[in-house]
Amino acid sequence: MSTRQKRYFLTEEEIPTQWYNIQADMVNKPLPPINPATHQPLKPEDLFPVFAEELCRQELDQKNAWIDIPEPVREMYKYYRSTPLVRAYGLEEALGTPAHIYFKNESVSPVGSHKLNSALAQAYYCKQQGVTNVTTETGAGQWGAALSYAARVFGLEAAVYQVKISYEQKPYRRSIMQTYGAQVTASPSMSTRAGKDILTKDPNNQGSLGTAISEAIELAINTPNCKYTLGSVLSHVTLHQTIIGLEAEKQMAKAGEYPDIVIACFGGGSNFGGVSFPFMRHNILHGKHTRFIAAEPASCPKLTRGVFQYDFGDVAGYTPLLPMYTLGHNFMPANIHAGGLRYHGAGVIVSQLLKDHLMEAVDIKQLESFQAGVLFAKAEGIIPAPESSHAIAATVREALKCKETGEAKVILFNLSGHGLIDMSAYDQYLAGNLTNYEVTDEDVQKNIAGLEKII
Ligand SMILES: *Cc1c(COP(=O)(O)O)cnc(C)c1O
Repeated sequence: MSTRQKRYFLTEEEIPTQWYNIQADMVNKPLPPINPATHQPLKPEDLFPVFAEELCRQELDQKNAWIDIPEPVREMYKYYRSTPLVRAYGLEEALGTPAHIYFKNESVSPVGSHKLNSALAQAYYCKQQGVTNVTTETGAGQWGAALSYAARVFGLEAAVYQVKISYEQKPYRRSIMQTYGAQVTASPSMSTRAGKDILTKDPNNQGSLGTAISEAIELAINTPNCKYTLGSVLSHVTLHQTIIGLEAEKQMAKAGEYPDIVIACFGGGSNFGGVSFPFMRHNILHGKHTRFIAAEPASCPKLTRGVFQYDFGDVAGYTPLLPMYTLGHNFMPANIHAGGLRYHGAGVIVSQLLKDHLMEAVDIKQLESFQAGVLFAKAEGIIPAPESSHAIAATVREALKCKETGEAKVILFNLSGHGLIDMSAYDQYLAGNLTNYEVTDEDVQKNIAGLEKII
C-alpha cells in the first residue's frame, strides 16, 4: 500500500487573515446598483437603513483587493477552520477516471454549511455598530440556522422569515433555528405589509425567497436598532466566502497541485465566488487558465437561460435594482429539494464575469444531482446537501470527459454542506418518487418580458 495523503489542513497561523475582493482586480467592473426611486447609482449611505454600515462599504468597494478579517470573526473561524481539503480517491475509483478530484469540505462547520463564514461577519459588524436585532429570510433553512447561531455568538436577537413551504416540509431546520434562540415566522405572513399584500391576493401562497426577503427588509426598516442580513447574492457575502478559496489555494499547494477546473453549485453565487475568486485572481493577473464552472438547477436556470439586465432582488421591489442575470424577480421556481438554489437572480460580480466569459455555467436536472449525490455518499461516506450535489454532478461530468481523453486534470469542487437534515429528500429519491422539472422557453420569456427595461 502506498502512503497517500487524503486530507490537507492549515495550522491556525496559516489560516488567511484577509478576505479577497475580486472587484478591485476585475478589468470590467460590475455596473453600479441603482436606486429605484432616483435612478441614480447607489452610494453606500443609501444602504445604511438596511445593512450594517461596514457591509455597505464592502458591498460597493471596487478599490481594495484585500479586506482585513476582524479579530473576533477570526477567533470564531478557529472553531471549525481550516476546513479540510480532501482528495476524493473513492470517487475517482468509482468513476475510473485519471482526473485528480479534490473537494473543500465546508460541511464541517457547526451548522453544516459554508453559510456560517458570512453569518459570523455580518453579525459582528452589526454588533460593533450598536445594533441589537437582526432579520433575515431563509429557504431550506441553512442560512437561517447560520445567522441564528452567529446572532447568539455576538449577543443579537434574530427574527427569521422562512419560506412557508420549507417551514412546513423541513421542520428540523426550524427547530435548529429555535434551539439557537431565533424567532421563526413562515413567509408570507400577516406581520408585514408585503406579506399581507401577497396573502390577500393569494391566501394559499407557499412563499419564495423573494417574498421572505421583502418581509425581512420591511421588518428591519421599521424596527429601531435592527438590520437586515442576507445569505447570498450580495458582493459582501461573497467577499466573506473567499476564505474558502484562499484556504484551498494554500492546501492545494501542500498537495503539490493547482486546479485546472474549479466547480461549485450556484444559488446566488456566494459559495461559487468563495471557492473560485482566489484562483480566478491568477487568471486575471498571472495568466493562469483555470476553468470555473457554476452548476445551477435546470428548474431555476438564470445563468444558462436568464437575461442580463437590471432587476429587483425581491418580489415587493424593496431592494436596489441590480445588474444581473435574472429570470425576473417574480419567478416562482419549482419546489426542488435544493431549496438553497431556488433564487431568480445571480450576484452582480458573477453576472459580469459570466458576461465577460471568465466563467462558465451548466444546468443540472434534479435526478442527475441526486444520482451524483448518492454516488458520492457511497464513495466518500459524506451525505451531500442536495445543493452541493449539483457541484458533484458537474464534477462527475468533467471527470468522465477525462476518462475518455485520458487526461489527468485536477478538479476542485466545493462541498458547500452536508445533507443529514435532508434525508426525506433522499428517501423520496431512493423510492423513485422524485421528478425533473422543466422550465419552458415560454415560461422564461413570459417572466422576463414583464421586467421594466431601464438600461
Ligand atoms: C445556500 C446554500 C447554497 C447556495 O448559495 P450560494 O450563495 O449560491 O452559495 C449552496 N449550498 C448550500 C449547502 C447552501 O446552504
